[in-house]
Amino acid sequence: MDTQTIAVAGGGIGGLSAALGLSKKGFDVVVLEKASELGEIGAGIQLGPNAFHALDYFGVGVAARDKAVFIDMLRLMDAVSGEEIIHIPLDEPFRERFGNPYAVIHRADLHGVLLDACRARENIELRVNSEVEGYTNTAAGVSVRLAGGDALAADVLIGADGLWSNVRGSVVDDGPPRVSGHSTYRSVIPFAQMPEELRWNAATLWAGPKCHIVHYPLSDWKYFNLVVTYHNDAPEPVAGKPVSKEEVRQGFAHIHESAQQIIEIGNDWRLWVLCDRDPVETWVDGHVALLGDAAHPMMQYYAQGACMAMEDAVCLSDALDGHRADIHAGLIAYQDQRLVRTARVQLGARAIGDHINHAEGMHARVRNEILRAMSTEDCYDRLAWLYGSTGLTGAETAS
Ligand SMILES: Cc1cc2nc3c(=O)[nH]c(=O)nc-3n(C[C@H](O)[C@H](O)[C@H](O)COP(=O)(O)OP(=O)(O)OC[C@H]3O[C@@H](n4cnc5c(N)ncnc54)[C@H](O)[C@@H]3O)c2cc1C
Repeated sequence: MDTQTIAVAGGGIGGLSAALGLSKKGFDVVVLEKASELGEIGAGIQLGPNAFHALDYFGVGVAARDKAVFIDMLRLMDAVSGEEIIHIPLDEPFRERFGNPYAVIHRADLHGVLLDACRARENIELRVNSEVEGYTNTAAGVSVRLAGGDALAADVLIGADGLWSNVRGSVVDDGPPRVSGHSTYRSVIPFAQMPEELRWNAATLWAGPKCHIVHYPLSDWKYFNLVVTYHNDAPEPVAGKPVSKEEVRQGFAHIHESAQQIIEIGNDWRLWVLCDRDPVETWVDGHVALLGDAAHPMMQYYAQGACMAMEDAVCLSDALDGHRADIHAGLIAYQDQRLVRTARVQLGARAIGDHINHAEGMHARVRNEILRAMSTEDCYDRLAWLYGSTGLTGAETAS
């Protein structure tokens, strides 16, 4: 049988992961990226143990680990009282249970590791300035329509073109994403700018009424990643708009000074108004399938959007490899294995926002009482469905 060609719309973390997984299974891959350069925004990202299973599958686990910071704990602080609510240790018992560590990494480093690996593979072609506008399923596969009028024939098209996916427009046609009303401001500061008393080796979340703040170290402790989120019912989607410190301060006057100082030490703040979607039951149309944010955009409150995109890529690669004679059946097998798990993260992320990150008054006191009563083992048990899976397997089969 001839080698099958897979077109991947989008060269983000999801698209490059799909390219690597599929190339390792012997498929020829063409990545079609709209932008003039392949890259990622300058901010951090958290990687659960499930991400490392995927990175190992793509053959880049060692390179990714080399760029990551292995934090000691996930720490939840009460942003009003300034007191710790709970922390989840990420030491040896955690790694043993889930088969891998939890880490934080600069997005550019993670994307760079995936990109270098793609460039080293002869059966991956990377094309920039290549916006996928749409597609037509054909008898032989799929004809991919590019901006500017060109077309590309492929056996399969994977829509990894993110939140505003053109490919999704034809596969699902469920209109624009839902605007959450949550405004997120991001800044990356040099290590020395972080107050000494907050230089924790942790992914720290300060949970306050309608707002929360996250910080963690990056890039061999050269930087700290700062993320400040305010549920201010912002009505329009925004992505990466530079804003003043005064704007970031709004909505944080009521929280503890330890948390408030994070806003003061940040600079070059940028704003995103976050969007997600309700889960859907179909990601496949003929020889076309969705992956990553194009399939299941979610709030970031499980810190799992990119991890899910990588898991998708693992699952897709195995499913297509196992169904070479019937590619559509392979895409359906991929979809069926991924739908419920990703929907659980999408819906769960919204619930975390409401009940943990942004709870206020009695709601926050109930949160604190419930979480403070939990042991480390309780926390691991609650997270086992998420961290104890690889994208190929069910929960608690990772190690
Ligand atoms: C504040 C915040 C914090 C987050 N923190 C975490 C975290 O800690 N851990 C985690 O796992 N996830 C996190 N996420 C989620 C994560 O960033 C995304 O889920 C992930 O980046 C999605 O990757 P993707 O490749 O599917 O999409 P994208 O990263 O959006 O990539 C899509 C690519 O496709 C290109 N493109 C778009 N349209 C077209 C087209 N028509 N044709 C060709 N190319 C196109 C784009 O230029 C882009 O390169 C966070 C998200 C936010 C907003």
